[in-house]
Amino acid sequence: MRVAGLQEVPEHEPLEWENPLFNTALSQFEQALPYAEISDAVADRLRVPERSLIVAIPVKLDNGRRTVYPGYRVQHSSVLGPTKGGVRYDPHVSLGECAALAMWMTWKCALLRLPYGGAKGGVRCDPRALSERELQAVTRRFTTQLLPIIGPQEDIPAPDMATDEQTMAWMMDTYSMQAGYAVPEIVTGKPISIGGSVFRPEATGAGVVMVIERACRRLGWDLSEQRCVVQGFGKVGGVAAGELAERGATVIAVSDVSGGIHDPDGLDVQALYAHALEHGHGSLAEYEGEHLTNEELLELPCDILVLAALEDQVTGENAPRVKARMIAEGANGPTSLEADAIFAERDIVVLPDILTNAGGVTVSYFEWVQDLGRLFWDRNDIRRRLADKMGDAFDRVWTLAQKRRLTLRQAALVTGIHEVADALDARGLYP
Ligand code: NAD
Repeated sequence: MRVAGLQEVPEHEPLEWENPLFNTALSQFEQALPYAEISDAVADRLRVPERSLIVAIPVKLDNGRRTVYPGYRVQHSSVLGPTKGGVRYDPHVSLGECAALAMWMTWKCALLRLPYGGAKGGVRCDPRALSERELQAVTRRFTTQLLPIIGPQEDIPAPDMATDEQTMAWMMDTYSMQAGYAVPEIVTGKPISIGGSVFRPEATGAGVVMVIERACRRLGWDLSEQRCVVQGFGKVGGVAAGELAERGATVIAVSDVSGGIHDPDGLDVQALYAHALEHGHGSLAEYEGEHLTNEELLELPCDILVLAALEDQVTGENAPRVKARMIAEGANGPTSLEADAIFAERDIVVLPDILTNAGGVTVSYFEWVQDLGRLFWDRNDIRRRLADKMGDAFDRVWTLAQKRRLTLRQAALVTGIHEVADALDARGLYP
């Protein structure tokens, strides 16, 4: 593989962040390049992350023993502003995964015309095996180790898989204790009591459905007549399922890590979400009804399949058996390159992650702006501003896809890459 002006590096010596997910992100970038019309020098710059940090996080467990978790933060590009991206706690977190997700964040922020670059971080641990005290210890120590590279004008973390408002509150407190005063603008996705924004918890899921709604309108489909399946029933999938049901769509199946639940006549999404909130991730298996595996769920006959769990769920292996007419990527990177090609061939519309799940970072941007200005916008105001931003990005992507005969993913990537490349060209190379 050719990587960023580092052509001298022998093929057999992969760079540290190269892994299958990073290679997917890079291949998507390469596939978009012929349409993006940017210089080779700028393309080389964007193939690699700007800065990567690996830390070791020592933590005292409740049983008195000590353990050490690996932690990561990758900043892909700071040309448009501070970097922005989530922090995830998961046994599979790696430098390569963070680098891939950071690159996608760069295109996403640029596509939405937010003044940010992309970042991503995480701790390799099993969050479900940790107590609240242990999670707090991991978070505070990780934040302390990130201090040299994060800041309200440098890099602003947010929640991602298995992290939440509480995690952000601990991060904000740890950072503020070092600064000597409250710095709410250091993270987004915080509790409202310390400068969080109303509507941030619902923003990603609501944004997913705003994009689905707009796509349906363009395709002449009535959303209220669509049968939907949602994989992942957390912050993104749970809210998206609720918003779909609210618009009259029939949600016939949802799943979490424990498996899925199916009712061809439509599920009571509100009751299911209340159950998931009360009993935590992985509790759908206990809910009464017809159960199925995540693999079976992905292949159910339906109109719209929302992928809101994690990456690499639809691959060359199972894509031929997917029966949906439209796939909405609430998660980052849920569709492999092979699956993408199969869906294009089968005329299945794929609403790409960097557009479809951008509601979260967009309202995170609103939160940061409110914090910096010590302002408080209300829910309707934020929902309207989000709908404007998502609608504007969707229309630009749709128009480009039609004009240049691109897939929506290619059009979204080209649009995002263009914004970043223009900024790099304008700023030039220092020194
Ligand atoms: P979450 O932890 O709240 O929810 C994840 C859901 O997926 C849970 O229901 C979990 O049980 C389920 N899940 C986990 N592993 C699974 C597996 N192997 N098979 C099936 N289901 C599984 O996380 P979230 O914030 O909802 O994030 C979901 C995805 O959306 C991630 O890819 C994340 O990067 C992306 N995303 C999140 C946001 C946000 O604002 N939270 C924004 C943009 C993108």
